[in-house]
Parts: sequence; C-alpha cells; structure tokens
Amino acid sequence: MFTPPRCPYQTCPQHLRPDPGDLRPHGHYRAKCRPHPIPRFRCVACLRTFSRQTFRMDYRDHRPDLNVRLFQSLASGIGLRQSSRNLRLSFRCTELKFRKIARHLRRLNLNIRKSLRGDACFQLDEFETYEGRRNTRPLSVPVLIETKTRFIVWAESATIRPRGKMTPARKRAIAEDEKRLGKRRDRSRRSLRRTLRRGADLARGPGPVLLETDQKSSYVDLAAESLGAGRLVHLRTSGKLARTSANPLFPINHTEAMARDLMGRLRRESWLVSKKRRYLDLGLQIFMAYRNLVRLRFNFDLASPAQMLGFAPRRLEETEVLGWRQDWEGRSIHPLALRCETVHDRMGIGSRAA
Ligand SMILES: [Zn+2]
Repeated sequence: MFTPPRCPYQTCPQHLRPDPGDLRPHGHYRAKCRPHPIPRFRCVACLRTFSRQTFRMDYRDHRPDLNVRLFQSLASGIGLRQSSRNLRLSFRCTELKFRKIARHLRRLNLNIRKSLRGDACFQLDEFETYEGRRNTRPLSVPVLIETKTRFIVWAESATIRPRGKMTPARKRAIAEDEKRLGKRRDRSRRSLRRTLRRGADLARGPGPVLLETDQKSSYVDLAAESLGAGRLVHLRTSGKLARTSANPLFPINHTEAMARDLMGRLRRESWLVSKKRRYLDLGLQIFMAYRNLVRLRFNFDLASPAQMLGFAPRRLEETEVLGWRQDWEGRSIHPLALRCETVHDRMGIGSRAA
C-alpha cells in the first residue's frame, strides 16, 4: 500500500514539511500499461492532485515495461539503434527514453553517496574519445574511482584541441570545423577540477586522502587545490610502465577498459559514436549506475562497489534502480524504501527538511 511521503509540488508547504494527514486519497485511475488501478491523492494545502506514478521514474511513460531492458542493453555496449530494433521501439522513442533514464540515473548516482568512513583512496586518469568527428573534435574524459571498491566517483567529458599528426586533409577538416563551430577550446582543466571536487565531497573526514595518478604535471596543483594540500598524499606512477595487473594504476586502467567495453560509443573501431558531448556524459551516468549499484565488484564477489562503501545495504536490481524518482535530492524516496522512506533517512544522513 502506497502512502505519499510529501506533496510532489516543490512550491507547496507540504513538500518540505509534510503532514501525512493532509495528503488524502482521491480515487484512482487505470492505465493501459498496468493491470492494477493507480491510487490518486489530493493535497489539502495546495488542492492539487497527484498519483503514485508522480513519484515513479517511469512517470508519463507509454512503455514503462521496456525501461529495464533498455537500461541493460545500454549498459552492455549495445548502441541506440540496435537497442531500438531489439525492443521494437522507434529510434526517437529509444533516444528519448535513453535521455530520461540517464538523467534519472545522474540524480540517483549523486543521491546514493555520503562521506566515506575511514581514509579515502582514489585513482584518477583521463582517456580520450571524440564527438561527431574523430580527427577534429577530440574529448578528454577524466575518471575518478575509489581504489579498493572500484566505485566510480565521477566521470565527465571535456573538449580538447585536436593534436597529433596533421595531414593536409586533417588541417582542412579542422579549419572547416572552426568556421562552423568556432575555435575548439581546451576545457579539460575545468572538468578535472569538477571531478576532483566530487572526490572531495566524499572525503569529508579528517583523515589523509590518498590520490594515485600518472605523471601528468597539471594533476599536482589541481589535486592539492581540490582535495586539500595539507592532507593529500599524491602518488605518481610513470605512464610508461606496462599496463598489467602489477601496475599500481591497474584499478583505474581496468575501470577504463570496462567503460570502453560496456559503452559501445567508447569502443575503438566501432560504428557507434557520440554525436554530442552531452549525450556521452549521459551514457557515462548509465555506466556509473550499472558499475556502482548493479554489478558486483568482481565476478567472485558478493557485493557491489556502493555496498562495500556502505552506500547501499545490498546490490540493487535494475527495477530498483529505475524505480522511485530522484528529483528531490535527499528528500526523494530511497530505491530500496519499504514504506517510502527518504534517501536521507535510509542512509542515516541528517537534515531531513533541508
Ligand atoms: Zn501540496
């Protein structure tokens, strides 16, 4: 039985300080895609009505039954077009579903995390890919992970300037691109800083923060600035070392290899490509949610990375990941809630009304 935890309209006083008695049952409706009637409610304070669906991620979907299959498909390296063929769904619907699911997962990824207990150990690296055109629009993607659990703290793309061998044809293509899109700027520092700050958000404890990277010189001051120079222990490993499991940076290299495998758009020599950077970022959020919440750390493990860090009591099922809406930060319903508890309550984070 569902009882609404708050009024879903953020401007209503019943949203921040809900009184369950003021959210009254208000009949039900039937949807073609569901066998059971869906209860409706009315808020006494703002007189607006809503339903249980208002709190679900598949709110307003015509084919909610395909969400889990699409999520699994996109987290397994299959492209949008092939997924749309497999699901018998139009390409446009698949594309819009992908964006909706990924935006939801971005909020979920940010909601299901809290300060780390104990010392923080991170590894940072960047890999390169491109948007639209390989020889003119390269991207750099910084990835930050928690080393022991392989939890992906953050990953996002940034534009960089084309570099490497310049053939006359490539120079022409770059000039053509510049005329149409303007000069391509190097934004990698900005996204590196944002990525490191996501790490700082997790490492709020007083203990030292260990960061392992390769020897790129810009990491030194950026890491000190974002993670705190006083407590940062920065270990740097040569990028020339063989990329075997004996390499100290194996965990981050392995995570990047997994990202390349499970996100078709990052695979080399592939037909799949991100036409725009922002959709690559959405794809990264799907990969992060899958890696952190759904997949076990290693095949022989019994726990997911988020579980090992104490962010979730167990591994999440795909249906749970795609369950309750996560729009209201800590006030959203926790994916594993039994009685509509909020994310903050369930994770033991204070400031219920905040
Ligand atoms: Zn209301």
